[in-house]
Amino acid sequence: MEFTDLGLSEPILKALSAKKYTAPTPIQQKAIPVLLQGHDLCGIAQTGTGKTAAFALPSLDYFARNPKPTPLRGCRMLVLSPTRELAAQIAQSFRDYGRFLKLSVETVFGGVPINRQIKALSQGVDIVVATPGRLLDLIDQKAFTLDKVEVLVLDEADQMLDLGFIHALRRISQLVPEDRQTLFFSATMPKQIQELVGKYCRNPVKVSVTPESSTA
Ligand code: AMP
Repeated sequence: MEFTDLGLSEPILKALSAKKYTAPTPIQQKAIPVLLQGHDLCGIAQTGTGKTAAFALPSLDYFARNPKPTPLRGCRMLVLSPTRELAAQIAQSFRDYGRFLKLSVETVFGGVPINRQIKALSQGVDIVVATPGRLLDLIDQKAFTLDKVEVLVLDEADQMLDLGFIHALRRISQLVPEDRQTLFFSATMPKQIQELVGKYCRNPVKVSVTPESSTA
């Protein structure tokens, strides 16, 4: 299978060939068609499987086909990440894959001055990649809202729980619109994560690229 078989639009295919990607990885093969149809997704996948492109490419495709002004102090897509390093990496992937589209991408995480972020978000952005704590700080300061989010991604959800973000994630789930697409990724699916999937996703299509633990 090749990327050209997946129904992605021309600017995205062009960006992929600039990166010399030809074949989609297994998670990309499974997730991209489902996401292009607008379904919610629950993916069990680790780093290194190509999961970032699996959620970035169909979302970029959606924004390419459905252009809209960015909402003031808001965004059209929110990606939640456990760490600032991962957030920066994801944002770079969106910039790379979206280089032939006119979409704005910003990161939001702690450890850097908040005022610069407030300014960057004031006119609205297409895609925000955030860690949960700083995101809620901005919301509490009325510098940002989630009420125009169309696509929500939780990446490495198990890591976010390990870092103590459960309350933040419960709060964020109350702040996003009901009518949205949700993409949920985790390397493991313990009970607490399954509960979170239930809170966030509507009839998610489940894809997995790691074999189930027991091979009796
Ligand atoms: P990820 O699991 O999203 O962190 O991606 C792991 C690495 O694989 C990253 O360096 C990506 O740039 C790269 N990658 C993702 N998809 C593909 C692909 N289809 N072909 C080649 N490399 C890829």
